[in-house]
Amino acid sequence: MYSLKGQIAIITGGARGIGEGICEIFCNAGATVALWDILDLGKETADRISSNSGSVFFQKVDVTDNKSVGNAVEKIISKYGKIDILINNAGVIRDRSFLKMSPEEWNTVINVNLNSLYITTKAVLPHMREAGYGRIISASSINGYQGAFGQANYAATKAGVSGFTRALCKEVGRFGVTVNAVAPGFIKSEMSDSMPEEIIKAAIEQIPVKRIGTTEDMGYCYLFLASKEAGFVTGITLHANGGSMPM
Ligand code: NAD
Repeated sequence: MYSLKGQIAIITGGARGIGEGICEIFCNAGATVALWDILDLGKETADRISSNSGSVFFQKVDVTDNKSVGNAVEKIISKYGKIDILINNAGVIRDRSFLKMSPEEWNTVINVNLNSLYITTKAVLPHMREAGYGRIISASSINGYQGAFGQANYAATKAGVSGFTRALCKEVGRFGVTVNAVAPGFIKSEMSDSMPEEIIKAAIEQIPVKRIGTTEDMGYCYLFLASKEAGFVTGITLHANGGSMPM
């Protein structure tokens, strides 16, 4: 297993779902994790993970808000003096067919899923450059590549995440910083749990490995890209979808 011992990681949207899975796996690997979320549930999640294995603390942060992000980064730097890993996982959906999509539905998704990368990365990158080391990994999606009905806003952001990743890696490789993305396929989450059983069954039938992905599957993808050993891997989007759309 890859070790993150002694490393400081920020995981956005860590209160539940895939973010919670990443927090858990990073803690097991020895990292100290700052769990960022707008939900107070983040405190419960952090306490639960800490009591089991690792070192994780909750910071209530809105990734669309410069001030909120800046304050949280300052606190981490004043306590630990560095940030090794930034996981841009927070994301939202506001699905609606394009002709009916409101400006609010468009802008919310663009702000949370894409504009936030400008805010968080801008706040963290100077510290990584100074340290000569860093790992930045962001959440793309299979739907950023294949598209999905009612997700023009979401797909635009997730394709944008992969473009951001390909471009930024060219600027920061010389500082020892790698930039990658993970594009999950169909993952078990609160969202998938609320779908009718026959729809889930039919969806799984279409996946070559014949099962739904887990938050643990995703956590290990992030762990590899966050490891020191992945230093020659940068600018990629790791497609983790059970073969649904081989890239
Ligand atoms: P989720 O809704 O369960 O978790 C997202 C978390 O982000 C929540 O805890 C939420 O409170 C937090 N968040 C939302 N807005 C925020 C903000 N402004 N500031 C801080 N935190 C905020 O979602 P998930 O299914 O765990 O997905 C995680 C990421 O993976 C998302 O970016 C999503 O688009 C992507 N993804 C998920 C799937 C899937 O099948 N679950 C598939 C492809 C991509």
